[in-house]
Amino acid sequence: MRKLIDKLHSERILSKDEFVTLLDGFDSEDAQYLFSKSRAVADKIFGNRIYMRGLIEFTNYCKNDCYYCGIRKSNLCADRYRLGKDEILSCCAKGYELGFRTFVLQGGEDPWYTDDKLIDIISTIRNAYPDCAITLSIGEKTYEQYLEYYKAGANRFLLRHETADAEHYSRLHPQGLSAENRKRCLYDLKKIGYQVGAGFMVGSPYQTTENIADDLLFIKELMPHMIGIGPFIPHKDTPFAEFPEGKLELCLFLIGILRLMIPNALIPATTALGTIHANGRELGILAGANVVMPNLSPVRVRKKYSLYDNKICTGEEAAECVNCLQNRMKKINYELVIDRGDFKPLQEN
Ligand code: SAM
Repeated sequence: MRKLIDKLHSERILSKDEFVTLLDGFDSEDAQYLFSKSRAVADKIFGNRIYMRGLIEFTNYCKNDCYYCGIRKSNLCADRYRLGKDEILSCCAKGYELGFRTFVLQGGEDPWYTDDKLIDIISTIRNAYPDCAITLSIGEKTYEQYLEYYKAGANRFLLRHETADAEHYSRLHPQGLSAENRKRCLYDLKKIGYQVGAGFMVGSPYQTTENIADDLLFIKELMPHMIGIGPFIPHKDTPFAEFPEGKLELCLFLIGILRLMIPNALIPATTALGTIHANGRELGILAGANVVMPNLSPVRVRKKYSLYDNKICTGEEAAECVNCLQNRMKKINYELVIDRGDFKPLQEN
């Protein structure tokens, strides 16, 4: 295992078989060995600086029906909401005051937000906060739509590929959604000039080690600027309610692997990681992550943006979340910084 980790460190890639061997065979000492390397790689590039992104969950309406997701359209128990332009802007104002220089607009695929409405929201934020990055996470669109949002001032786009394997994809999504289109979106976004985030859930139903190895190879091929992975966590009102949650150890190990594969990638320690373990986000940072994404959504809607059960940080004001995270980072000798946290090319020495 150590030889494979050393090889990954020096070559930044392994073959599919080697990834499978490593993922199936590692123990906790191997994981510590990997983390000593992945953390050192992150520290060399980012120091002890952790970037924060302000997450604005602006709608939980969704036209899609992903089997894993709590806001899927068939979940009739979901209490639906939408934030208006003014509410979104006041989230940004609050965020700016708290030191955020990146706003992430995330939501279900909600046709109520027409392109005209979205472009109006994006360009208003762009004019009000010229020094901030605007990240969209609003699902699958056409090349032309992505281009219009980019021209309006959006800089980044988060779109997890979910799983690179077409067959596995079809077990997680109903007909009409495909791995092929998801990947097409990611390549379109990159071509337009967005900083792009891909990623997948760890421990999603039916996921095999081979699937994960394919996800890693797909990520290496795409070379995204951001990589979001987190555990699958069941939601009680979905078809996957009875499946077990993803394993913390595997999530952390994958963060370490991804850091060695793409040293300068922006990798969040996700809220889902913090949900399955009280110190999940700290452990994510110590495994090689360098981003956290506190919630800027109004407290009244937080519980309603319920992708999975028991989501953390749904009761606190944004300021409390930032304070709490800053303290958590300090305890492990890191600090949240006021910075856009853009992707930067690697300075090889
Ligand atoms: N609609 C946009 C999209 O499709 O990218 C953004 C919102 S979507 C809810 C954001 C991410 O939540 C998905 O990419 C998925 O990986 C994650 N997610 C959904 N349900 C989840 C669950 N049960 N456990 C963990 N993550 C989940």
